[in-house]
Amino acid sequence: MALSNSQHDHFMRMYEQRQLDNENRLRSRFEEVYRRLPQMKELDDRVSALSLEKAKKLLSGDASALQSLKSELKNISLQKHQLLTSSGFAPDYLELQYTCPDCQDTGYIDNKKCHCFKKAIIDFLYTQSNLQEILEKENFDTFSLEYYSQNHIDPLTGRSSLAAMKTALSSCRHFTDSFGKEFHNLLLYGDTGVGKTFLSHCIAKELIDQSFSVIYFTASQLFDIFVKNRFEKDPDVQMDYEHIYDCDLLIIDDLGTEFTNSFTAAQLFVCLNERILRRKSTIISTNLDLDGLKNLYSERVFSRITSAYTVLRITGDDIRIQKKLMNKY
Ligand SMILES: [Zn+2]
Repeated sequence: MALSNSQHDHFMRMYEQRQLDNENRLRSRFEEVYRRLPQMKELDDRVSALSLEKAKKLLSGDASALQSLKSELKNISLQKHQLLTSSGFAPDYLELQYTCPDCQDTGYIDNKKCHCFKKAIIDFLYTQSNLQEILEKENFDTFSLEYYSQNHIDPLTGRSSLAAMKTALSSCRHFTDSFGKEFHNLLLYGDTGVGKTFLSHCIAKELIDQSFSVIYFTASQLFDIFVKNRFEKDPDVQMDYEHIYDCDLLIIDDLGTEFTNSFTAAQLFVCLNERILRRKSTIISTNLDLDGLKNLYSERVFSRITSAYTVLRITGDDIRIQKKLMNKY
């Protein structure tokens, strides 16, 4: 999906509004300070008068007078600073505060879209659709370990479903806590309906709240884009690729349920590889076991995943867990 012109205008208006709002906030902070500290108003008036004088001297070429004006202005600025902080205000209280200091709320840095703009687009195109609603229900606050049993033993590992979920949960917590500082990828695999998607939702919610850009696709949606890109050189699909490679977190849910052929398997490799090269994190969830993954997508995909991903196996009594998870809300 690409932005239409009117959608682009919508974002530009959003930035204009943001600038206006921040200017208005600054204006009311000035009013508040002037009310509480009338000396501040006097100092500011003095600055205006001196600045005017400075401009006149500059035009007349009076260099020595200019120097003394400059030092007087510096002196006043020091007095203002002291007045402000000694009255309990933050030192930058009378400075314009940007919502995004990196682009100063213009959306662009050196003619390139700022990270805040890219995130706004991704939220708008991908996240807004239906994920937001799900994330209100499925997040770390609503997740509970009580649905995982100590008695349900995984025949493959000999671990209980409770122990496996505790490990998975702490890995997911570490993933979100260190996001942006450390580079991690996760593969969540195991039985159907035991909370793999729920866990990826928990992470998505946490990171979206921290202003990271997150794209969530089921494997079928992602593979649809691969196929479309092959047959229709649609600019919208190119745009999708840019976002898929570049978003802070890509979640691919339910890998293995989509229709796979050698072309889509190769594209999956390109996608996962590209993101590793860019050090952008990916979470994959699948009901396949590791052998199934290898058989379906080739040795190359398999070894890329196992070498660069933290592999978490989750098992459990699915019906029990699903029922309890659903009953919570
Ligand atoms: Zn920005």
